[in-house]
This record gives sequence, structure tokens and C-alpha cells, in this order.
Amino acid sequence: MRSKQGSDTIKPLDSSLPVRSCISCRERANPVALVRVVLIDGKVIPDLKGGAAGRGAWLHKKCAEVAIARSAFRFAFKQDAAVDVSELLKFLQD
Ligand SMILES: [Zn+2]
Repeated sequence: MRSKQGSDTIKPLDSSLPVRSCISCRERANPVALVRVVLIDGKVIPDLKGGAAGRGAWLHKKCAEVAIARSAFRFAFKQDAAVDVSELLKFLQD
């Protein structure tokens, strides 16, 4: 069955869709478009399988470098000191 043209338009106000905000650009997006990261022992770890314990933050992969440059993770995780982003950088280089 063919659906009506335009019926697949994303409705930003549809509350049935889970929405997360990117910690870098603050844009709201479906979690499938974002990477979840968690803070473990002061390290920002990409949570690729989902469900990792700890405080999580969401961001676009393309926004990660900007987030690192702006210390967005420090603010997202409410850290006083700089956080270790080496694991995230490894992930970005893949
Ligand atoms: Zn973003």
C-alpha cells in the first residue's frame, strides 16, 4: 500500500518519538541519529551498544570535535576538571 506523499515528514512535536538534545549544537534529534556517551572513571566512553551504566549524554558524531573543543562534556557531566576524551577520539578515528 502506498502512503500519501509527505506522510513521512518528521513531526518535531510528536511526543511518541524519543528525543534527545545534542550537547554540542543543542539540536533535538531522534537517538538513532546521535551517539550516546557515558562518563566512567573520568573518561568519556562512547556507549555504542546502549545501556551502559552511568550518566549519559547525547551528541551528533559530527559535533564531537566541537564538543571536545568547547569542553561540552565537562558541562554535560557537571565535572569541575577536564574529562578524558581519548576513548571518544579513538572512536571518531574509526
Ligand atoms: Zn549536534
